[in-house]
Amino acid sequence: MAADRIDGKAFAEGLRTRVGGWASDFEGAAGRKAGLAVVLVGEDPASQVYVRSKGKAVAAANMNGFEHHLPADTSQEDLLALVERLNADDAVDGILVQLPLPDHLDDQAVIAAIDPDKDVDGFHVANAGRLAVGQTGFVPCTPLGCMMLLADRLGDLSGLEAVVIGRSNIVGKPMAQLLLDANATVTIAHSRTKDLPSVVRRADIVVAAVGRAEMIKADWLKPGATVIDVGINRLPPADGEERGRLVGDVDYGPASEIASAITPVPGGVGPMTIAVLLRNTLVAAYAHAGLDAPE
Ligand code: NDP
Repeated sequence: MAADRIDGKAFAEGLRTRVGGWASDFEGAAGRKAGLAVVLVGEDPASQVYVRSKGKAVAAANMNGFEHHLPADTSQEDLLALVERLNADDAVDGILVQLPLPDHLDDQAVIAAIDPDKDVDGFHVANAGRLAVGQTGFVPCTPLGCMMLLADRLGDLSGLEAVVIGRSNIVGKPMAQLLLDANATVTIAHSRTKDLPSVVRRADIVVAAVGRAEMIKADWLKPGATVIDVGINRLPPADGEERGRLVGDVDYGPASEIASAITPVPGGVGPMTIAVLLRNTLVAAYAHAGLDAPE
């Protein structure tokens, strides 16, 4: 039987509507709109697309977006000075610096300069540490979005076997931490993992965050597994196509014959990331204004 398609797009739309409602409540209670500052350095086309769509989503959710577009040759000093100004700005509840930065800038130093209480991307070491020791903090948007989809689909994850493929700081590691907090038994696989198919085969939950088109094959999956595909990969254009298709890390068609539920690419995890960013910004705004956040 074909797997259920986990509709991240619909889930994300619902979350964005709820966040829009909270944002209006926030404005009523605080006397100002919640604000997200987005910093973009340089002209990277993919980053420009992301920043534009974040700006639109922020406005649609009844929040203020403050866009700071700096030239590609901006110095580290000037970028850090901007982050300091945003840290001190009471109209700004969340700060997001679009990565990757141009090569001459130090991503880690810039992230470290963001006030952890405005770090709505959850990349600051203080927030990574809070997640690691089970304290409340900001969790990176993509893995938190994956968790929301899993909780919605499976409810209690206690005792389930979860395999996360990928160990980046922004997806794989926080994903594994969230699954562990939800009492799953977690394995983190990566490029040095031996016999990946047999590791994946024991998983009730597979989260793929590798960045390799259709690498995870149907016969690696345990029948009935729930599959969350974070990967976004563009295939080379086929004959007559101007641009290649977007695909995930999982070989979707055959995998959906074996899994019980699977996220498509596009339309799965991708839309969740921005919705969770809006949610994190609202949480930051309520805390910043000294108000209790809605749940
Ligand atoms: P990274 O490149 O930072 O990490 C990739 C991970 O995959 C690494 O841990 C790497 O292992 C592992 N890996 C690479 N090759 C293999 C292999 N052959 N077998 C097993 N593991 C392997 O990527 P990100 O975590 O940033 O992103 C992963 C994917 O998710 C990308 O496609 C990205 O575009 C997508 N993404 C999607 C988002 C969304 O909104 N939907 C948001 C963020 C990312 P090692 O550590 O050993 O090198």
